[in-house]
Amino acid sequence: MNRHWGSDDAGTLRVARLVDGTAVLGPGRRAVVLVQGCRLRCRGCIAEETHPIDGGEALAVERLASWLDSRPSVSGVTFSGGEPFLQAAALSRLIDLVRARRPELSTMSYSGYRLEWLREKGSESQRRLLRRLDILVDGPYVRRLHGALRWRGSSNQRVHALSPRHRTEVEAGDDRPAGMEWSIDAELNLEWVGVPPLADFAERLAGQPGVPLDRQPKEA
Ligand code: SF4
Repeated sequence: MNRHWGSDDAGTLRVARLVDGTAVLGPGRRAVVLVQGCRLRCRGCIAEETHPIDGGEALAVERLASWLDSRPSVSGVTFSGGEPFLQAAALSRLIDLVRARRPELSTMSYSGYRLEWLREKGSESQRRLLRRLDILVDGPYVRRLHGALRWRGSSNQRVHALSPRHRTEVEAGDDRPAGMEWSIDAELNLEWVGVPPLADFAERLAGQPGVPLDRQPKEA
């Protein structure tokens, strides 16, 4: 089995974090599923905690579908991570379950793999997920190409309209950054979502009061 094809388990998804709603990762207001597990190890990745394949929490896809159903104020869902295409079977099933009740739901995913690789060398599950997406942002994060860009961190990454739904907006070429959204929980832990404007965002933030312990700098 190709190690970049990931899991064919359509019933369970390993999740790092769920975001109820944001306006910074795709068109409109969207729920976000940050999946757990990535094998690409891009230098400067701001989500290193999502890399271990067995980390995060295993959630039933039906439960995630109910979570999405309970958020009628969002018009779409975005899959980020981690690498969504390592769990393509589960994400395809999640889309099918939710769209059976909400066919208008917009779907978007990030991937460190390029669209051409997914189409030509990806697994059947990965190609099935592509067919269910409205937008794909593809390619690995490349730190030296970091920029303040719309929905992506480095200029090698591309925004593809895979369906007509958002094609006009995607192809309009507006590349102004969508920014980030922040929240603070009762224990003063900072949570953020979005694309950081600076390549050294993680280093600058580490060590600040309120940053969760698993994001504090490691001792030498
Ligand atoms: S593909 Fe995404 S999650 Fe994986 S290492 Fe690269 S930036 Fe991080």
